[in-house]
Amino acid sequence: MKEAERGEAALKCASILEKEGAEFYERASKVAADPRARSLFHVMAESKLEAFRILSKELRELAGGPPLVREDELDEGPTDDLPQVPRIYAVNTLVTAACYVCGEEVPVDALPRECPSCGASRYTFERDIDVKRAATIVQEDENRCLDFYREHVGRVSGGARQLLERLIQRSEARLRDL
Ligand SMILES: [Zn+2]
Repeated sequence: MKEAERGEAALKCASILEKEGAEFYERASKVAADPRARSLFHVMAESKLEAFRILSKELRELAGGPPLVREDELDEGPTDDLPQVPRIYAVNTLVTAACYVCGEEVPVDALPRECPSCGASRYTFERDIDVKRAATIVQEDENRCLDFYREHVGRVSGGARQLLERLIQRSEARLRDL
């Protein structure tokens, strides 16, 4: 069952990674000042959320359904190389935004219309990220995601491998569209 364990662990990592990406891009889309940067981050957030949903569904089915890989695909490979979720998305840097005028911090997930402390408009919480910078952030983060998926796709088989291959194709398509 080691092969199956490795496959399931890789998919779990992938689902965490896609969820973190969705959260990061969603928050980035709220604080970027440039509308084109906001739009790019928003598209990425939607794409990551969709990938996360696909992975969650597969993992739920795995929990109650048939095995991830067929008996004849099982091998006795080592389990000490179970994947760890790489730290790619700087989600923690986007939890709060500070008012440019008075320094008041507010949660990015619930940005107020105006600063609750000094009354400045919500623009005061935005960050100066233009579309070029946004594209660079996306490119760097997605390439690191791809590195992770490419590293693990060769170590798993069956359904897990097919899903990772799908994720790689999705990421490559996203990067092509930049
Ligand atoms: Zn303020």
